[in-house]
Amino acid sequence: ESDIDTDLYYADLDYNWNEDNDDKWGELDDDQIDGIPDVFVGRITASTLTEAENILNKIKWYNPKNQWAMKCLMLGTDPAWDIGGVPEGEYTKNYILNNFVWDNFTKVRLFETAGNLTVPNAKYHIDQGYGLINFFGHGNYNVWSFGSGGDYYSSDAASQQNGNKTSIIIACSCLTANFVNYDCIGEEFLRNPNGGGISYIGSTRSAWIYRGSAVVNGLAGQLDWMFWNATFYLLSQDSSEDAYTGLIWGLAITNYQYYNDIDDEGSDDLDWKTVAEFILFGDPTVKFRTRVIPDFYTDYDELTDYLLNLNQTHPDLVEVFPLNVTWMERKIWAVRITNEQTGFDKPAVLITACHHGNEAITVEVAKTFIDNLIGNYSVDPEITTIIDNEIILVVPMVNPDGRELEQRYNARGVDLNRNYPYSWNPSQEPHAGSAPLSEPETYGVMTLVNSYDVYYVLDIHSGAECMVYPWDYTTEDPPNEIAYICLCEDLINATESHGYTCEPPPGWDHFYKQGADWYPCWGTFIDETYGNHVTPEGAPIMSFVIEVYGDGYYPTTESDMHYVCDKYYWMQLQLARRGTYRYDRMVYDVQIPDQVSPQETINVNSTVVNIGTKNEVNIEVQLLLNGELISSKYVSLNSMENTTVTFELTAPEGGSHNLTVYAVAASGENVTSNNYVNKTLEVASYTLSDFPKPFTLNGIANCTIIVGCKSPHGPCGAAHTLDTVGGIRVSSIIGNYSTDITNLTAYLDTDVADYDDVNCVVYYLMWLPHIVTVGGPGVNMITWKYFANPWYAPVYFSREYNPDSGQEEWVINTPNNKYWEYNVTSTPELDDIGVIEIVYIQEEGRYVLMAAGLGGYGTKAACLLLQMFDSPDMPFPLQGIAIVFKWVDTNGDCKVQLNEITLLEQVG
Ligand SMILES: [Zn+2]
Repeated sequence: ESDIDTDLYYADLDYNWNEDNDDKWGELDDDQIDGIPDVFVGRITASTLTEAENILNKIKWYNPKNQWAMKCLMLGTDPAWDIGGVPEGEYTKNYILNNFVWDNFTKVRLFETAGNLTVPNAKYHIDQGYGLINFFGHGNYNVWSFGSGGDYYSSDAASQQNGNKTSIIIACSCLTANFVNYDCIGEEFLRNPNGGGISYIGSTRSAWIYRGSAVVNGLAGQLDWMFWNATFYLLSQDSSEDAYTGLIWGLAITNYQYYNDIDDEGSDDLDWKTVAEFILFGDPTVKFRTRVIPDFYTDYDELTDYLLNLNQTHPDLVEVFPLNVTWMERKIWAVRITNEQTGFDKPAVLITACHHGNEAITVEVAKTFIDNLIGNYSVDPEITTIIDNEIILVVPMVNPDGRELEQRYNARGVDLNRNYPYSWNPSQEPHAGSAPLSEPETYGVMTLVNSYDVYYVLDIHSGAECMVYPWDYTTEDPPNEIAYICLCEDLINATESHGYTCEPPPGWDHFYKQGADWYPCWGTFIDETYGNHVTPEGAPIMSFVIEVYGDGYYPTTESDMHYVCDKYYWMQLQLARRGTYRYDRMVYDVQIPDQVSPQETINVNSTVVNIGTKNEVNIEVQLLLNGELISSKYVSLNSMENTTVTFELTAPEGGSHNLTVYAVAASGENVTSNNYVNKTLEVASYTLSDFPKPFTLNGIANCTIIVGCKSPHGPCGAAHTLDTVGGIRVSSIIGNYSTDITNLTAYLDTDVADYDDVNCVVYYLMWLPHIVTVGGPGVNMITWKYFANPWYAPVYFSREYNPDSGQEEWVINTPNNKYWEYNVTSTPELDDIGVIEIVYIQEEGRYVLMAAGLGGYGTKAACLLLQMFDSPDMPFPLQGIAIVFKWVDTNGDCKVQLNEITLLEQVG
């Protein structure tokens, strides 16, 4: 029995390591112990304040990146001088590399038997920076023995020069962590201010191994590979089980005990000794990582160099300055781009990126924008105009610590896009920070917002591909939602016009959405700038998030990275353009009813928006119908506000009409293509099935019933009294369907029209609304005017020579048939043929309905059909533009009855 210095005692919290009170702690047989670490303990050994400071600095700057972190340095020896047939150290290293280390890691073997394990060679390699170093061989408190390769001493460890590329070191060796009696070699690695290790796992006393290939089956040789097994197991897990060095140590110690079932039986003492003697030097929360951003992304140092160089090479255009200093003492850079000769009293647009440190692509997107703007100044006249007249502010890396740590949060674990004052809510957001603007990053960004006349903010994120506008914290609509939608559409159009597409995410109607309608979050940058800050005009700062990449947080190939940058350059440029748009009046939407009847009074509702940056008064809004101005209204609109303008319109005749609402352009308005919206107004054409529409509409009768004069007149002969009776029948049904019959009138044709003998035309003496004309063209001038003319009426009357009868007589023409007077029985009291037809007279803007027969009984039958159109006794429904029917006096009473009428033809 011997003493072991162990930190497992501090990690194993349950039971009693001195159960029997004999002052011997951790006895397998006498004390009650389980040996499983309940917390993970690391030991930071410093003898002086300077040493402590050195170690803490190294922890602060520890930032494993794949270029060097994903490299393993394996130092293997032959500790049993080939007894057992294999060099145990080298055998174990190969076992580890073959079984646990991923293929994408660089594996360097320095082996005693290979001859390349020498002190200078080991020192050289360690100076290059390795994520993981593993030594297996004899050792003492101050030395790693490389066998025939020499002795690597504490002084070598203390003089390594690997800088911030500090390694996690595991030493399967005796005594190298013997911190009690000496400043051991493990401590020297940790204390080295110029490099060395970030953590050291080693033994506090002599470590035992099995010989030969059995080395991996138990004792220190087994525990050695279990550290590696634990490391790569943790690397494969989600971030909840990151590869913290404390966890690597604790998991291996735990696994070893499960494999080896330690109890108080005999040789288990060696197993117990093995897990007790291996301890961890260093901060157990130091995290080893491999999920790292590819080298072709701009890291913090590269960004700093790039910006400072830009500042130097373009002194009149670019100003680069720090907004603040982060917890890890990095400067948060802001870039101001403007023609400094033209002063600073200009509108500003602010673009921010990388609030979330893991969203690496966003830095590139912002940097590409800076690049293109500067590169095209005085080359592209439009960019020149923007830079001359506007201030472009870019913060390409709001969260440099997070970017370097490759984590969403800043170095203090705060989600910067939850740390802004507006709607700051730590009960909803666990990473909101201790107070609004508690973080140097958010505080710094707000100093920029407060220093310039910012009109627009674009905050670039990744992890999805879409656009979002406030509010983030509530699903209640923002007051300027219409302007937001218009601006989103505008930014998308600018992107898509360069050959890119902005597809709505699955389940979305558009590429954009209100933030909280996606998911609510509190204390965001866009809610702060929109909710708490205004432009010099008093309008809110219009603020957007663009999420630029959704397949992870950044593309993993360089070409994909450039694609995203090129795509979102256009969106940023468009917002920059907008910064100079003082006037931009826009008609957002026009709403009209789907079903419109001729002469119906309808409302045309339009939404007019001011998406210019200036408040406006007396914007003229016009309503145009088929290009003709119908009416104008005037509205005043502050910047980013909208209003509804309603026009009343009397619907024109049936058919499609172009309706335009136009917000008359301001002088100097930048975009006028959005000042109008065109709509097609579909006005129904009436057919007989609509009767008594349009002669009465919405309860208001609006028509004139015309019968022929009783004596010959114009081109016509004398009308019959039957026509007058028919007119009464029709007016009764129209009156029956109307509550207001003020405009229901009746005239003789000679009251309202006259005949021009010279030109042979009927002309009106007065204006009339819709007309019902009773009687054929032989007795009624109005019927003659329209229904004896095929260019007005598809079914028309004419007088023609009938070869069957050998005489000239009236005939009803349909597109396919002729119905002759002669073919009616020679005694017209017994039968007749009649027509009901509706036509729209385009140039007069009214409908004319005719009820007429070849003889008077046909007219009477037509009027009876109209009167009884809604009766169950109707022999057939009124349909189409015209019907041709036959009446036969089947009961011989010389009266017209419904059941004596049959349909001959329906037209239209
Ligand atoms: Zn984000």
